[in-house]
Amino acid sequence: MPLVIISGLPSSGKTTRAKEILNYFNDRFNRERQTNRIHLINDESLGISKDSYQDTRVDEQHSRGAMLSAVERLLSKDDLIIADGMNYIKGFRYQLYCVARAVGTPHCVVYCGVSIDTAREWNTKRGAEGYGSTVFNELVSRFEEPDDRNRWDSPLFTVLSDDTSVSCDAIWDAVIVRSPKPPNQST
Ligand code: ADP
Ligand code: MG
Repeated sequence: MPLVIISGLPSSGKTTRAKEILNYFNDRFNRERQTNRIHLINDESLGISKDSYQDTRVDEQHSRGAMLSAVERLLSKDDLIIADGMNYIKGFRYQLYCVARAVGTPHCVVYCGVSIDTAREWNTKRGAEGYGSTVFNELVSRFEEPDDRNRWDSPLFTVLSDDTSVSCDAIWDAVIVRSPKPPNQST
């Protein structure tokens, strides 16, 4: 089953959108009497606090490592994964894409395309739940926006701040209707 990679700035609505996608897939699997499992993986499910992004890149690497190993462990022919993390480093999205390829299952990227000002505003509204301003600025400066000219960022679905919903029908068509790639297919 596919790997759905969420990407976006801190507090850009990733978890909100991820849950919307989760509900859509759950409903549709039920309706079509498919018994596939869906795993939502994020900092909360991995037990990683926002302080992990505080100031050392070592801690950040630890967060990425936890995400990658959870995806490696859970992604299978029967289980769909929503990787709800910032996934802001291009090379890291490439690594996630390679896991999907190794399993022989499709992937896609859902990018929460929200301006820095809007993300900052939403972050401030979160109060203590949000990222500290130094961490927020650091993460923003390191963000590498998905680009669908890269095979690991394609197909790419961008959801804007004022979009009422994610294009879940289109995501379904891209990753479920499309038959799985055989493993070891060269690109
Ligand atoms: P992330 O997972 O990217 O950090 P969240 O989904 O947790 O972001 O959302 C961050 C904050 O922004 C939350 O307080 C949420 O209620 C708010 N938020 C998310 N999406 C929207 C939206 N489309 N419009 C207004 N506020 C939003
Ligand atoms: Mg989140």
